[in-house]
Amino acid sequence: MRVVVMGAGISGHTSALYLRRLLSSEHEVHVVSPKTKWNWIPSNIWVGVGEMTEKQVSFELPPIYQKQGINFTQGNGIAIFPEGDATHSSPYIKIQHTDQSNLNSESILEYDFLINATGPKLNFEATPGLGPDHHSLSVCTADHAIHASQKLQEIIQDLKKGQHRTLVIGMGHGLCTCEGAAFEYVFNVDHLLRQNGVRENAKLIFITNEKEVGDFGVGGMWLKTPEFITSGKLFAESLFEERGIEAICGAHVKLVENKKISYEQLDGTFHDLEFDFAMLLPPFTGVHFKAFNSDGSEITDTLFSANRFMKVDANYQAKGFDEWLAEDWPKTYQTSYPNIFAIGIAFAPPHAISKPQKSTNGTPISPAPPRTGMPSAMMGKMIARTIKEMIETRSKKPSRVLSLAEIGAACIASTGAHMTRGSAASITMFPIVPDYKKYPKFGRNLSLTTGEIGLAGHWLKKLLHYLFIYKAKAKLFWWMIPE
Ligand SMILES: Cc1cc2nc3c(=O)[nH]c(=O)nc-3n(C[C@H](O)[C@H](O)[C@H](O)COP(=O)(O)OP(=O)(O)OC[C@H]3O[C@@H](n4cnc5c(N)ncnc54)[C@H](O)[C@@H]3O)c2cc1C
Repeated sequence: MRVVVMGAGISGHTSALYLRRLLSSEHEVHVVSPKTKWNWIPSNIWVGVGEMTEKQVSFELPPIYQKQGINFTQGNGIAIFPEGDATHSSPYIKIQHTDQSNLNSESILEYDFLINATGPKLNFEATPGLGPDHHSLSVCTADHAIHASQKLQEIIQDLKKGQHRTLVIGMGHGLCTCEGAAFEYVFNVDHLLRQNGVRENAKLIFITNEKEVGDFGVGGMWLKTPEFITSGKLFAESLFEERGIEAICGAHVKLVENKKISYEQLDGTFHDLEFDFAMLLPPFTGVHFKAFNSDGSEITDTLFSANRFMKVDANYQAKGFDEWLAEDWPKTYQTSYPNIFAIGIAFAPPHAISKPQKSTNGTPISPAPPRTGMPSAMMGKMIARTIKEMIETRSKKPSRVLSLAEIGAACIASTGAHMTRGSAASITMFPIVPDYKKYPKFGRNLSLTTGEIGLAGHWLKKLLHYLFIYKAKAKLFWWMIPE
């Protein structure tokens, strides 16, 4: 059997390593991904403030795959033929190669099982002028983060000369996700400016599509601290207040021009904001594939949602916020084709987690649901086990389940990188998707939903950086490190 994994990011690489460990050598594991480098994306935040280098957050995959016995094709999956076609009896994907020697040439790869782990398409086009090719910066890739760090250093030099500068960090569209990453970046920039003794000359502004800070696209949360229960809003607001960072909430960035952001807010008002430095994350869509059935008819809309995430075993029936249920969320990540799965950011969520909001002009402004690193890696491992068991039992039914409404997540948001003066907000939540049937008051189990900020969080985040890279490099006993 051949298992093809499209995407060598957090979920895809995890599933490939586990598949290779679980399957006997008569079965092939084949990864298709456009870049030869693996990137620990969470640490791009530290690259974006010059705290880490690109080398510290990424490494070459081909030597690891060679050692593990995993086949690798450098390219983008561009089309799926889940039933084969007139000339192929087996299902296959079409690949456009990205390595220099075969650049843009196309080939096909047949599969018995296919895992779509292609993550997000960074949709800078959704907002005119957004992104590193235009007027704002990003930290989504290591290259973007290096660029952001260079620009930040220029701003620090200006501030050192006594000039005043405005730095805007946040979300580049009303429907963005990944608010936590922008949150981390703004606090790391604040920390860096303080380390350089130039904070007083800088105006630091956080712009977000969240109705209030602390929402993070998971509908906010109530947190149990050792002493009391507090709201995520209060937890986050106090951090912004303490560090003198202004927060603009419920904002949809409509246009980014040279040194000017235009945005609309939930109250229907329109504003312009002048900046000297802007790091604005893009909204995400799924990667754009096409899909065809055996007679060549296009079935892209059957396999993918309108924003190009892959439909899996979720309840996609459109319904109002009050009718959303925890059980709407997928459990097996199997698509309508039993041998195709979508994991990590690639699967289509059934609905948002935060309550949808619209401005008084009707513009949707609210976070899309995040799918962070820990659940993405857990899905990778779970799918590897499922596929192994499906192969062994020759069953079309997945043997394992994992729902975001039934698992928790730990998230350590860096608020400043330094071994003695650093800090991080360590947050755990259970479950990720609130379940108001099981936990009527808060939607989550408060014994397992906690938040604390301090230096220990920074040490833990740094330790996890090294542990996850060790694991991704498949070093000795890598599988013993949890996701
Ligand atoms: C700046 C930033 C900071 C973050 N910080 C945190 C954090 O602190 N904690 C946390 O839990 N999460 C964090 N996240 C989120 C985390 O990075 C994602 O949850 C995780 O990367 C999702 O894993 P994935 O496998 O779905 O996608 P990815 O890791 O993005 O991997 C997708 C892979 O698919 C490949 N690919 C793309 N198109 C194709 C194609 N057509 N064919 C084949 N392959 C393709 C890509 O090259 C990549 O290798 C952060 C995200 C960002 C952007």
